[in-house]
Amino acid sequence: MSEENEFLLEVDNLHTSFFTDNGEVRAVNGISFKLTPGTTLGIVGESGSGKSVTAYSIMQILAETGRIVEGSVSYKGENITNWSERQLSDFRGSKVSIIFQDPMTSLNPVFTVGFQLEEAIRLHTGKNKMEAKARAIEMLTLVGVNEPESRIRQYPHELSGGMRQRVMIAMALCCEPDILIADEPTTALDVTIQAQILELMKSLQKDFNPALLFITHDLGVVAKMCDRVAVMYLGKIVESADTETIYANPQHPYTKGLIGSVHKIGGNREERLFSIEGTVPLAMNLPSQCGFYDRCTVAIDGLCNKIEPELVEIEPGHKVACFACNNEACKAECERARKMIPELERQKAAKAEAEAKDEAKGKKNLFGRRAK
Ligand code: SF4
Repeated sequence: MSEENEFLLEVDNLHTSFFTDNGEVRAVNGISFKLTPGTTLGIVGESGSGKSVTAYSIMQILAETGRIVEGSVSYKGENITNWSERQLSDFRGSKVSIIFQDPMTSLNPVFTVGFQLEEAIRLHTGKNKMEAKARAIEMLTLVGVNEPESRIRQYPHELSGGMRQRVMIAMALCCEPDILIADEPTTALDVTIQAQILELMKSLQKDFNPALLFITHDLGVVAKMCDRVAVMYLGKIVESADTETIYANPQHPYTKGLIGSVHKIGGNREERLFSIEGTVPLAMNLPSQCGFYDRCTVAIDGLCNKIEPELVEIEPGHKVACFACNNEACKAECERARKMIPELERQKAAKAEAEAKDEAKGKKNLFGRRAK
């Protein structure tokens, strides 16, 4: 890797949309981040915040209606959004792998786990059948599957949830990818198995040194696993910092809400946990305002409901998109936004007027045709 390409993965201003019969859903709306070897970035947020779509955009495994509409995803400095399907299929599995939330739906129920592991190994490494089988057994041993020689002959439904997730991890790491994406890998597991799987992933990261993108809604998991955190809301990163800073000094009201809703060890057992009212809105035909405005308890009327805040750096490595933080960078962002509001209002009024004219014209044409 050349010095200027110290980053394995660079996501730059990524926009991903789904084109439905009801219109464009902007699932990911201009996010940027970078990954270096051996480090873990946690992407946190509720369902509907765009975390998984970010992962699928990197892997380029979006549903038929989905498309990257702007921005780039680069692997070692090369923009992969222009790659052919053949280049991408080499990239997936050998350079980047993904562990999905539910191993039961990710593993094929009609093939043995050994067959599926060996197929992945043969496809991406060129090993022959015997070598692939040996590697499959080696990987199952590494991820703590007991009696791997007999397990490889079993079907996914014959294994427990924890065992299936271990098989998925073995499959994701069997070709030693540079980047591992874990999309809520422990959500479908019970708490004790969750802890074992997280420990396993940490120790495998030490052995294989991949960059890890860890997607979760669970802040307890983030504290255990991640070096840095990006908090996502409505397809955007609203706060990012190293893990310690996010917990010690959260700035965005959404981040504060997420942290406040987690029970703390030694906390007052009588105290009610904080909850964020409402849900993430559907990213379609949204007004021009802060995406969190309708749920925010500290929103500034006349500002937050008129314009979206930009993500600004408030201290080295700590970025926030909110008008209500009490620091110089955010005050400057408020000032910039306030200056822009009159022009935005003028554009909005002009657009509404043009739409009203079009509508009236449409009605006139319709009545005109009917009259004939
Ligand atoms: S910009 Fe305004 S509405 Fe958005 S999170 Fe900050 S205070 Fe709340």
